[in-house]
Amino acid sequence: MKAILVHEFGGPEVLKFEEIPTPRPAAGQVLVRIHAAGVNPYDTYMRNGTYAIKPALPYTPGSDGAGVVEAVGEGVKTVKAGDRVYVAKTLTGAYAEYALTLESQVHPLPAKITYAQGAGVWVPYGTAYHALYQGTRARAAETVLIHGASGGVGIAAVQMAHAMGLIVFGTAGTEKGLELVKREGAHHVFNHTEPGYLEEILKASSGIGVDLILEMLANVNLDQDLKLLARHGRVVVIGSRGDVSLSPRDLMTRRGSILAFTLWGITEAEEKEIHAGLFAGLENGTLRPIVGKELPLAEARRAHKEVLEPGAFGKIVLLP
Ligand code: NAP
Repeated sequence: MKAILVHEFGGPEVLKFEEIPTPRPAAGQVLVRIHAAGVNPYDTYMRNGTYAIKPALPYTPGSDGAGVVEAVGEGVKTVKAGDRVYVAKTLTGAYAEYALTLESQVHPLPAKITYAQGAGVWVPYGTAYHALYQGTRARAAETVLIHGASGGVGIAAVQMAHAMGLIVFGTAGTEKGLELVKREGAHHVFNHTEPGYLEEILKASSGIGVDLILEMLANVNLDQDLKLLARHGRVVVIGSRGDVSLSPRDLMTRRGSILAFTLWGITEAEEKEIHAGLFAGLENGTLRPIVGKELPLAEARRAHKEVLEPGAFGKIVLLP
């Protein structure tokens, strides 16, 4: 099969498009024919060798993908050959024509969701679900600022928060991104590249501040987020690419809190709840992954460059 292989950590140039043997499922394993693989920013940190998880080399990147079950190993009961599925983590990597997974890593893909959309389910929607339901325990009528709403996680959070009955504020850095965020359910949108946009957010909250902030770039924004919080407000740190200094008094005076997590660290029970919630939302149409760009698998290097550039528009996916 064709697959992307990383033999050494480094820049996008270490992503090699190669021919390797197709894996075979052992007991309890599932072989999935990948029709689309999702590209997440953490794939690039891992490829650089700077991420908390350093895979053994060589490895094939990718935890997100969607396709059809090709074969199952002995004892697998919940899926069979021919089933449409999305994968949430794999044993051998999703940037490939086939990926081997554990039985617990494949989940049914509703008929109305395309494979390209299915490749944008696990990390983006799993993260948004954990942040809103399990982390901040968001409630209807609360206000939420999705700081970085135009990308994979942001769009997922906008759709989910809207469906939960929250008042949704979203930011993006381009007109196209702002339009998308508004279309997908934000009640108010702001351009995070424009001076004065933080004051605009405060004004739109009638000067009270927002109850929740989902933060995609904490190293840039966390200090200012604390000044935007309402009393008892919660910020959840989802993404950060460096250090930040902040004033604890901003939290103390608001009785606010900062929460943070990585999707890798959640419990099995939380993960089970997430997949059940996502399936319902995908099936009833409240969750609609947005695919901004489809590239051939051989162009993984380009995908890794572009996923870190400004101008996000939902997901970038690779097609094997
Ligand atoms: P993505 O699709 O690349 O989107 C990045 C988002 O950040 C875009 O909406 C982008 O907006 C926005 N952004 C750029 N500059 C910003 C600024 N100054 N202030 C606020 N937002 C800004 O990435 P993603 O998949 O949504 O992931 C977002 C972040 O969360 C990444 O750092 C990722 O590594 C992290 N993450 C963490 C977890 C976890 O487990 N904790 C899980 C998933 C993702 P424009 O392009 O429109 O400017």
